[in-house]
Amino acid sequence: MLFETVLGGLTLALGAGARAVPSPLEVFKRDHTAGTVISKCSRPGVLALAYDDGPYQFTSSLVDTLDAAGVKGTFFFTGTLYGCIYNQAAAVKKAYESGHQVASHTWTHPHMGSMSASQIQAEMEKVEQAMVNIFGRKPQYVRPPYLETGGSFLSVMRQMNYTVITNDVDAGDWNNQSPQQSEQRFQQAGAGGNGHIPLMHETYSGTVTTLTNWLIDWAKTNNLEIVTVAECLDDAEGMYKEGTFEPNGQNSC
Ligand SMILES: [Zn+2]
Repeated sequence: MLFETVLGGLTLALGAGARAVPSPLEVFKRDHTAGTVISKCSRPGVLALAYDDGPYQFTSSLVDTLDAAGVKGTFFFTGTLYGCIYNQAAAVKKAYESGHQVASHTWTHPHMGSMSASQIQAEMEKVEQAMVNIFGRKPQYVRPPYLETGGSFLSVMRQMNYTVITNDVDAGDWNNQSPQQSEQRFQQAGAGGNGHIPLMHETYSGTVTTLTNWLIDWAKTNNLEIVTVAECLDDAEGMYKEGTFEPNGQNSC
């Protein structure tokens, strides 16, 4: 009954014959998370380190740090913010192959709230194609630049079946907070309750070294497991879109 209602609505929304009707499982998943904003983990005992704005010159060493500690992080990559993603393909691939979650932070890091639906879609599709070209998968998760979820953004994410992540702790590294000041924010947020999904940036050396190492210790002290964002939402199988996708040969931005 529920499926019929959802399917009926979807078919109407898409227009007859506009797109194949998704399987009930896909519909259920979409109904469950796509286009809704998630700011923290769905269970206690976990911490999801989530880094925005890469790939950057620190990506590879950050992967090494996480790997050495035996923990998993999430990388919200852009296409062009700090140079072209294809020029850092090795680091992107390394993050993926090491089992970290690779997710989307849009192609050019724009203010999505003021963009048209087709512009938003293009921002997402360029990142998808780059990731297909680099490691063969399309991301299922996005964190919008500036955490902006207004305008057409959420309805497009719903149509494109994206899980939208924001944050519940702000490290403040983007706002000149020192690693020590960021640490205080985590201590204030505390280790209890459902796990944190912090806003952090891999473009600050203090974040990728001092703060990351402190968080690894803080998690250990508080018996928190450091996992990917998808894992902390009990969605470990849902990091990437289902299906196989063909590279299109592009390797420049
Ligand atoms: Zn950003």
